[in-house]
Amino acid sequence: MQALIHALYPPQCMTCKALVATDFGLCGDCWRTTPFITGLACRKCGAPLPGDPEDTALCDDCLQIARPWEAGRAAMLYQDNARKIVLALKHGDQMEMARPAGDWLARAAQPLLRPGMVPVPLHWLRMLRRKYNQSALLSAALARATGLEHCPDALIRQRNTGSQEGRSRDARFASLQGAFAVHPRRAARIAGHPVLLVDDVMTSGATFAAATEGLMAGGAASVSVVSLARVAKQA
Ligand SMILES: [Zn+2]
Ligand SMILES: [Zn+2]
Repeated sequence: MQALIHALYPPQCMTCKALVATDFGLCGDCWRTTPFITGLACRKCGAPLPGDPEDTALCDDCLQIARPWEAGRAAMLYQDNARKIVLALKHGDQMEMARPAGDWLARAAQPLLRPGMVPVPLHWLRMLRRKYNQSALLSAALARATGLEHCPDALIRQRNTGSQEGRSRDARFASLQGAFAVHPRRAARIAGHPVLLVDDVMTSGATFAAATEGLMAGGAASVSVVSLARVAKQA
């Protein structure tokens, strides 16, 4: 069956459509222009840092800004082909991209993996318009890649905070304060349990911070975060 499907639909690179050997992969060129984060990374956000991978370190942002979560990782830097991948997921033209992204997240989040994975939610109004939440697609893919459970509706976004694009760091933090809470129906899934928060992109960290505060208010034992892509300077 697989051979027949491949004869009809030969596997293509997820970002440029060049023919490749296996499904859900990238061609050599796209692989090289996707800045996967390997080596030493900031322990709070996953930004790449110069130094020995065995060291623990914080990036400049995480030294300056309070990070209420315990630890964080990111699979790639938000630039070049990684940007294309994130936008394809966000705009829904390539939802199958979630599958390889789940594997990349699993690798990046390896030291932080816990049974409870929770995506950063959209406000319901935005969800109606967009039809799906890319962070929930990612946490579902991460759950599938790791065999661990995810709880897509554990958090609710209580206010429609709109797009954070173009806002300053302080404005982002101010607009997101108190924006998230644990869904009353999911209270028992969160209280006393460690949680791994999943989002597509981390920019200032304001969303992760507000979502972490919502989870901690709901009694989460600990919160760690993983993003598919981190907006940061190259190490
Ligand atoms: Zn390609
Ligand atoms: Zn950092």
